[in-house]
Amino acid sequence: MGKTIYLDYQASKPVDSRVVEAMLPYFTEKFANASSLHTDGDIATDALEESRQKIAEFINSQNPREIIFTSGATESNNLAIIGYALRNRRKGNHIIISEIEHISIHNIAKYLQKNGFEVSKVPVDFYGTVHPDKVQEKIRDDTILISIQYANNEIGTIQPVAEIGEIARERGIVYHCDAVAAEGIIPIDVVRDKIDLLTLSSNDIYGPRGLGVLYVRTGVMLTPIIIGGGQERGLRSGTEDIASIVGMAKAAEIVQETMEIERKRLTELRDYLIKNILEKIPKSYLNGHPKNRLPHNAHFRFDYIEGESLLLSLKDEGISIATGSACTSKTLEPSHTLISIGLLHEEAHGSLVVTMGRYTTREDIDKLIKVLPKIVEKLRKLSPLAD
Ligand code: PMP
Repeated sequence: MGKTIYLDYQASKPVDSRVVEAMLPYFTEKFANASSLHTDGDIATDALEESRQKIAEFINSQNPREIIFTSGATESNNLAIIGYALRNRRKGNHIIISEIEHISIHNIAKYLQKNGFEVSKVPVDFYGTVHPDKVQEKIRDDTILISIQYANNEIGTIQPVAEIGEIARERGIVYHCDAVAAEGIIPIDVVRDKIDLLTLSSNDIYGPRGLGVLYVRTGVMLTPIIIGGGQERGLRSGTEDIASIVGMAKAAEIVQETMEIERKRLTELRDYLIKNILEKIPKSYLNGHPKNRLPHNAHFRFDYIEGESLLLSLKDEGISIATGSACTSKTLEPSHTLISIGLLHEEAHGSLVVTMGRYTTREDIDKLIKVLPKIVEKLRKLSPLAD
């Protein structure tokens, strides 16, 4: 992991060395195309289908045919929402998302609006929770799709997915859930939660980057958005990347074995960090839900502080950490999630998000607890707004 203390696991995770090992033969010895009919092709097909089965088990899908491999979560979100909307336009042209969906979902919704669809956004409360009754209020006779995340990738709040799934199923509306922030740390069950379309990303479970999955429940019809040779049941053409697919399946197997222990370990570490930061730094606050949050996420905000300066000071201390949203921190816009929970622009800008993972230790967190109060104090002395 190099010399830095890495606390930005939501943005990117290292690939587990056991995953790399499982992938290696598929670059050199078992390199054939799964569409080829010869023996080497059969070996690739077997690996592909075995992996599909493992991913199906990971989310309790009842049929491996429901697993479609894509290039990542962004593509899965596109296929789910655009694919469903285009295929089912005659049933209605209204879709529902929440105000704090990932930027990819917001931009897909904008694209659909330009193409004649109507989109309603469900507001969230101060903790970032989407309340099922607020979802209910947005449903219309022409609603065909609801897309609401499993947990928020920025502030870590876990959503009541089973209740949302129940509402959608009762009304005959398809429910898409982006599970990227939650996968591998919270057990996902598409049957229990009545999820029809589910987005997964390989890297978020310590698998290779550039691979994702869309779970498509049997009977849910989509129009493909990538057209070609008809791979993945015609829903996602292009030669399958067997090495990465084998890697993701191995990654899923590992997280399934370790999830419970890891969830407990990270929850303790997270609560230890939150308690210490809020105690040691005056005018510091926790964003997101205090209890109902991802075990590896602690999202803080500090009065009179600029997140960027905080990030750079921590960088000097050898700590890699993010401000605002991991996916949009290269823009100057404040995070739409933080604005949606009711923060002012200046409050949103004073945020710092700590995301921990498999290789985070108590020593890493102790170092952060040691340096952060001093950095905040120093920066406040330079701020004209501080008392
Ligand atoms: N959904 C969520 C919740 C995310 O956090 C991200 C970014 N990690 C994405 C979708 C998009 O993932 P990718 O950039 O890997 O396609």
